[in-house]
Amino acid sequence: MAFTHNLGFPRIGAKRELKFALESYWKGQSTRDELNSVGAELRRRHWQEQSALDWAPVGDFSFYDQVLDMSFALGNLPERVRDFHGDALDNYFRVARGRSAQSAEEHAHCCGGVAAGEMTKWFDTNYHYIVPEFSAATTFQLDASRLLAQLAEAQAQGVRAKPVIIGPVTYLALGKAKDGSDKLALLSRLLPVYAELLDALAAEGVEWVQIDEPILATELDAGWQQAFATAYQALGTGKPKLLLASYFGQLQDNLPLLAALPVHGAHLDAVHARHEVEALAAQWPADRVLSVGVINGRNIWKTDLNAALDWLEPLAHTLGDRLWLAPSCSLLHVPVDLHSEQKLDAEIQSWLAFAKQKLEELRVLATALNQGRAAVAEALAANRAAIDARRQSPRVNNPAVKAAVAKIDAQLGRRRSGYAQRAARQAARLQLPAFPTTTIGSFPQTAAIRQARSQFKAGEIDEAAYTAAMRAEIQHSVREQEALGLDVLVHGEAERNDMVEYFGEQLDGYAFSQFGWVQSYGSRCVKPPILYGDISRPKAMTVQWIRYAQSLTQKPMKGMLTGPVTILNWSFVRDDQPRAVSCYQLALAIREEVLDLEKAGVRVIQIDEAALREGLPLRKAQWQEYLAWAVESFRIAANGVGDETQIHTHMCYSEFNDIIASIADMDADVITIETSRSDMELLDAFDDFNYPNEIGPGVYDIHSPNIPSEAHIVQLMQKAAERIPAERLWVNPDCGLKTRQWSEVIPALRNMVAAAKQLRAEL
Ligand code: GLN
Ligand code: ZN
Repeated sequence: MAFTHNLGFPRIGAKRELKFALESYWKGQSTRDELNSVGAELRRRHWQEQSALDWAPVGDFSFYDQVLDMSFALGNLPERVRDFHGDALDNYFRVARGRSAQSAEEHAHCCGGVAAGEMTKWFDTNYHYIVPEFSAATTFQLDASRLLAQLAEAQAQGVRAKPVIIGPVTYLALGKAKDGSDKLALLSRLLPVYAELLDALAAEGVEWVQIDEPILATELDAGWQQAFATAYQALGTGKPKLLLASYFGQLQDNLPLLAALPVHGAHLDAVHARHEVEALAAQWPADRVLSVGVINGRNIWKTDLNAALDWLEPLAHTLGDRLWLAPSCSLLHVPVDLHSEQKLDAEIQSWLAFAKQKLEELRVLATALNQGRAAVAEALAANRAAIDARRQSPRVNNPAVKAAVAKIDAQLGRRRSGYAQRAARQAARLQLPAFPTTTIGSFPQTAAIRQARSQFKAGEIDEAAYTAAMRAEIQHSVREQEALGLDVLVHGEAERNDMVEYFGEQLDGYAFSQFGWVQSYGSRCVKPPILYGDISRPKAMTVQWIRYAQSLTQKPMKGMLTGPVTILNWSFVRDDQPRAVSCYQLALAIREEVLDLEKAGVRVIQIDEAALREGLPLRKAQWQEYLAWAVESFRIAANGVGDETQIHTHMCYSEFNDIIASIADMDADVITIETSRSDMELLDAFDDFNYPNEIGPGVYDIHSPNIPSEAHIVQLMQKAAERIPAERLWVNPDCGLKTRQWSEVIPALRNMVAAAKQLRAEL
């Protein structure tokens, strides 16, 4: 008998209910009780939707982030928020989002301004977590209130509850020791608190706890391997039983490590590590459960159920009651319900499965294993038909695109001249001051913009009216930028719903959903387009808008594109060809757009590669291969232009040390990056490498509503100038401003421009 369970359900809601509830609460438009009741309703609904499972996750619901939840459960709050005397949930949001001190001067040190916690990407996904902060003095203290409350709720609703927590080793590994101390030294302080937490859960009648240790899918040195042994010898043998969950990749060297840990069960990602499941099953002690993540929790394609059963049946035979079936990882990374979609092409829709459909696939698999395939014959036949249809569809295959990819050679991605020569020509053409100021692309996506777009999509206004509305927004943003005195302007991206979906909608080979939202961080979601076929560009995608924006100003207007690697990494991609091939196809399409912009007289073109880093494989051994095709794709997209056209790229994260050579190899004339939260320290990587081209280190954090002061920006730029020659520095925010309000953007940019002027004066 095989059992079914789920590692986590998307918490945002099929219609993004959580997003809207959070944002309304943050704006003071609803009460804490109202927010709490939306949370409770979502949990209730999601458990109901998982009622066919033998075990449903509890604690996977979060008001912001599961790692931040863990920090609060462990009493590991950053020093700066500890003496807050308001509500705990508000304090939680302060760590998540930061808070400006302006309104509460007398409380500045306690509940006034605080810096937001650092955010970084969750393994190789586009989900961001709040980085736990450590120092040598860190102590832990259990606060299980959140988890126990959700557990009580689940139990009251008759849910077979399996609490989900992040394991101690992954928790430590994901955090940052602010004082450079050894994080592993904290393990002995951490384990008693985990033990207390497990005791508290056992006292509530919990049988199984899922303890997530995805760090097992990465390279671990001896110290970290030993930490696993220490941790699970301390925690693994008691009550409740632990299901140790690994996902996102292969365990490789860590497989024997996991096999030796004294836990009652393990979960393995059978999508990425099938052979490891087989290896573990063959040696798995008779009293342990093996959970097999057989349905891909990272993509939206239907599982080939018949093939899955061919593989599972012998395993079920070996493992009997010890076999659990699950998605490969939490379903946090896929949208909720395919049946919400009303406009998706029917043929493409028939190839897909979202979270709810994936759980249904799980039910079919378990039924086939437990009662024989005949019991679900109809479902299996329908699945086979869908899988075959996709494989054979002419919509997936475009011979002309395949031929163009085959013709790519080393020449295609090369600029005509080296950086020095280009820089001289660009300087002569652009006539920019020292410390030129710019922004990263988007300006606030106001309610008016979103309304015009939804009216257009609903057919309530026609294309001419929509275009007029967007042009008015572009005009507004150009006027504001001129008034602020920025040097290189942007059109503001009003017409873009999302930096990837916008391009996906205009490329052949892409489908897009209406409700396929996936949480990116906090209340923020993305709707990844679905790359299903060979990619081509039927016509120019951005030229009209940029040409219009340029017509409004004498200042250089940046053309704004999303790069091939980012489009790839933020899409749901094909599972029937290598990622590299899809990426080259995208690169050729973006290259055509770049050349069209240049032809239209655009002097500066930015190609965002915000997601280049997150595409890095979890294992360092595979990095070079990825970086080679990723960088080549960017070069193919960007480097067809003449010397006098200035290519910018933008990356919003703060770790470049290990990929700096590849970043330099992209050979963008200017790179803008996220640095404000790291106090310019990350520029060391560029400095040490002697990074040759221009850099715009972000001077303020756009994720937070805080307004940076002029003095602070000057100070940051002075730190930057200690590392990068001043003549190669730009001044800009960390990222695009679409999530901010104009009332925040204007004063922030005013301070930024004033800071640049002060810096010029001091040169
Ligand atoms: N040009 C985009 C914007 O400003 C870049 C966003 C990003 O890097 N995430 O919104
Ligand atoms: Zn960015």
